[in-house]
This record gives sequence, structure tokens and C-alpha cells, in this order.
Amino acid sequence: MKLLLIGLDGLRVDLALPEATAADPAFAAPDHPADPRFAAGPRPAGAPEQPVAGSEVLAPTLQRLLAQGGRIVPVWMTPPTDSGPGWSSLLTGTTHEENGVWWNEFVGHRLSRCPDVLSQVWFADPRARTFAACTWAALVDPSGPGPVIHQRVDQQLSGQHVLVKATDFAEGCRSADRQVRTKAAWVLDHEGPDAGFVHFEGVDEAGHDHGCTGPEYRGAISEVDEHVRHLVKAVAERHEQLGERWLVAVTTDHGHKPEGGHGEDEVEVRRSFLLLHEVGGDLTQTELPTTLRSEQVTPLLLRLLGVSRGSWTTDHEVGARTDVDSSGPTRDLTHEW
Ligand SMILES: [Zn+2]
Repeated sequence: MKLLLIGLDGLRVDLALPEATAADPAFAAPDHPADPRFAAGPRPAGAPEQPVAGSEVLAPTLQRLLAQGGRIVPVWMTPPTDSGPGWSSLLTGTTHEENGVWWNEFVGHRLSRCPDVLSQVWFADPRARTFAACTWAALVDPSGPGPVIHQRVDQQLSGQHVLVKATDFAEGCRSADRQVRTKAAWVLDHEGPDAGFVHFEGVDEAGHDHGCTGPEYRGAISEVDEHVRHLVKAVAERHEQLGERWLVAVTTDHGHKPEGGHGEDEVEVRRSFLLLHEVGGDLTQTELPTTLRSEQVTPLLLRLLGVSRGSWTTDHEVGARTDVDSSGPTRDLTHEW
């Protein structure tokens, strides 16, 4: 099975998929406490109330992915709920403590030892072809902070690992997302990588600019849903013509406060989801956990793909770096060479 993972930055799932969110009590409250360092302060005076989903369908594609043999699992993010820490955990299967990403500046990160899901697919079989297209440069661009997705220059040279970053910000993230969508749809359709990740940021931008109670945020959800449809259409064509099996997975790194913004521990900000759909298949009987933490998403995707990680059989501490002190050798002949 091949993987198409789609990241919809800053999406409130209670607005995009209100019925599915309301139907599962595990979406109501986080499954694990937050570090008090990242507790939200008092709400500002005059801040808007929580948005309420109306009868209008904002995300028909997500709804269809779910209705036609798909599943949705609540994902609870661990604060800080900024994009850097969020995507780092989601995409690498590691905690903030493990990957060292606590800020969007990625200062002091340890991502070089925390391979992303695409690279874990590649490590499992170096023939694997992988692909990422992202609006947020920190996910793929080596000249920015991060990046979260490993570069693997050798595989890029041979076209085995394709990385695309958005460059058209003439209309902010909206034009960048369109560029990413078009490029991603082409690569998915014609090259069919074994594992791909596509990131869109228009919804997050709308949340920051307008909050999530008005038409701008809802419109951004509908716009990105249409991007998702293009990507699913590409892999559906491959399924129809070539019989390929594709796992489509959709997630987000955080929600938004009603007035816009994220980073702390509010329920609506910590709430994420993992929507799973097998193109032409049925996942309704697949064994899945009732909730996930962000770092559990990548291991679950790998399990569903049938990818297992390599491991050392020796018991030494792989990756530890410890210097000898400057006292020098003892001249004990046991250690003399
Ligand atoms: Zn984000």
C-alpha cells in the first residue's frame, strides 16, 4: 500500500467535520494533561465565543473520504501547540523531548536523528520513492529553520526523493497552496511515489488573520477541501488504471482559538484528528486505537502500510556521544595496545 498524507495546517475539525466530531466522545477532551508551562492565560475581554458549525457542508471531500469506508481517530496534540513542534511530532513519531522542537525557530532541534515518515519508509527499503510538497518552508527547505523532512540529497539527485516548496505567495498562502496542489497532483498522478506528504497552510493563515468565527475561515476550509479532492483524484486514477492501493491520511497540527491563534493548551487548539481512507478499499473493520497522541500518528501509518523499522541487535546505546576525559590512559596492560 502507498501513502498519501495530507496536512491541513490549523484546521478545526469540529467545523470541518462537525457530525463526526460530535459523534465520538473522545473528541471532547484531551486524553493527556498539558505541561503547565503552556497553560493558556485568561481570555481577553470581548473575545468572541466559540464558533458553532452550521448545516453548511464545508469539507465535502473529507466527508466523502470518511463516509466511503474511511475512519477518523481523535488526535490530541501536546502543547506547545505551534506548527514546528506539532508537525515535528506528527511527521517523525517523536515527542518534543525526543526531537527537541519547542519553537517555530527549531532552535537546538534533534531532527537529524528523528527521521520523518517518508524517510522511515525509505530506511525500511532503500528502493522506496518519496515525495513532499509544502507551503510552509520549514517542513522541506534546508535554508530555513528545520527542515522536518530529511533532505536525502543522493535520492533527490536520482529523482527518488522529490521535495517541493511553495514560492508563489502573491496571494499569501492561498496562491502558495494552489501551487503546491498543482505540483503535488502532477507528481502523484504520473509518478505515484510510495509515500508522499502534502502540506497546505491557507486555513491557518485565515485563522490568524480573521479568527475562526467568520466566513473567511469557513471559506478557507472549503478551498483546501477542494485541494484535497484534486490529490485524491490523482491517486484514484492510479488505483483505477493500475490497481494500486493507496492509503489517504489527513491530519492537522492544531486548531485555532475563536479570535485566531494557538500555542497553548485550549481544547479547541489541542484537538486534532487522523482521517484514514483506502482508495477503493474499506477500513471499517481495521483495528485502530480510540485516540492518538501526535507522536503516535507516524507509527500507526507505518503499521498500516506494512513498514517495519530496522533495529540493532546489540545492546549498546546507539547514538550516544560521550567524550573521554583528559586524564589519559592508565597504562594498565589490559588496555594497552
Ligand atoms: Zn500550524
